[in-house]
Amino acid sequence: MPTFAQGYLGALRYEPAATLDPAALTGQLARIAEQRGVTIHERSPVREIRRGLVTTVRTDDAELSADRVVVALNAYGGIPGTPAGVFGVRVQAGVTGKLSPAALAAVESLRTDTVIEHGELSPYFRLTSDDRIVVGGGVVRRGAHGSLAPSPGRLRAAVRALAPELSDVDIESAWAGPIGMTRDGLPLLGNDSRDPGLFNVGGCNGHGLAVSVANGAHVARWIATGRKDHLSFALPWLRPKAPWLPRGGLAGRALDGYLAWLSAGQSDRPRERLS
Ligand SMILES: Cc1cc2nc3c(=O)[nH]c(=O)nc-3n(C[C@H](O)[C@H](O)[C@H](O)COP(=O)(O)OP(=O)(O)OC[C@H]3O[C@@H](n4cnc5c(N)ncnc54)[C@H](O)[C@@H]3O)c2cc1C
Repeated sequence: MPTFAQGYLGALRYEPAATLDPAALTGQLARIAEQRGVTIHERSPVREIRRGLVTTVRTDDAELSADRVVVALNAYGGIPGTPAGVFGVRVQAGVTGKLSPAALAAVESLRTDTVIEHGELSPYFRLTSDDRIVVGGGVVRRGAHGSLAPSPGRLRAAVRALAPELSDVDIESAWAGPIGMTRDGLPLLGNDSRDPGLFNVGGCNGHGLAVSVANGAHVARWIATGRKDHLSFALPWLRPKAPWLPRGGLAGRALDGYLAWLSAGQSDRPRERLS
């Protein structure tokens, strides 16, 4: 057990878990797809999806009809034709400068073990191959778009609390991005009740690095074979849409208040040590 994690009142150390670089994963998946003949059109946002005998996807410059369409917009849904039920929130992460040998020795176990503190929006940590800590958590805002000025202060405090050797470590850069949430915390994978050729995946509630790749494989097999028997182990998120969640007016403001309360809780939480 790592010494720094022993000092915490509550944290999850999950030995079989792995960490990965999301940009490397995405880039490699894209490369493999292209090698297999897929054409990727970047910077051509879909504006509308129309159901029909064939499904039609409209961008600013073109329309494309296909008998199978997979919508995987996640937090960015909300264009005509996409399912309701997945809503976006913006979360943040950051990376420290290169750690000194003493600081590195104190958190060396992060290289193989992932650590997630207890509680909502709890900080989580990963050691990169070039000896920096990636840290996420702490502040969240409603909506896929719009600014969430990252708060390096929260991230810095979380890192420094890991071990005394990290007391002067700083956050070198921080960023924010959207994740797709659902009311019941479960993702979504299924085809449209009115258009069986229109598939929807997403809403991984911030845990999509593994789940979205697995969902992609599930839906690819479903389309390739025309069957979903391989999902007959009753995947709980096999459904055409996620449960409805009111978002406008009062409901939206209530959700904003809840997220602000959650975010504020991060600074107030006592970072007490057992030893
Ligand atoms: C700061 C941060 C930290 C995170 N940490 C973790 C973590 O530790 N572990 C974990 O498992 N997950 C984490 N996540 C979540 C993870 O990134 C997502 O769950 C995962 O990316 C979901 O994959 P996806 O393909 O469903 O959606 P996305 O990766 O969101 O992809 C959606 C795609 O749709 C595209 N798009 C949007 N609108 C349109 C349009 N109109 N037309 C065409 N394309 C469009 C977007 O450009 C994007 O490429 C984190 C996310 C953030 C932002």
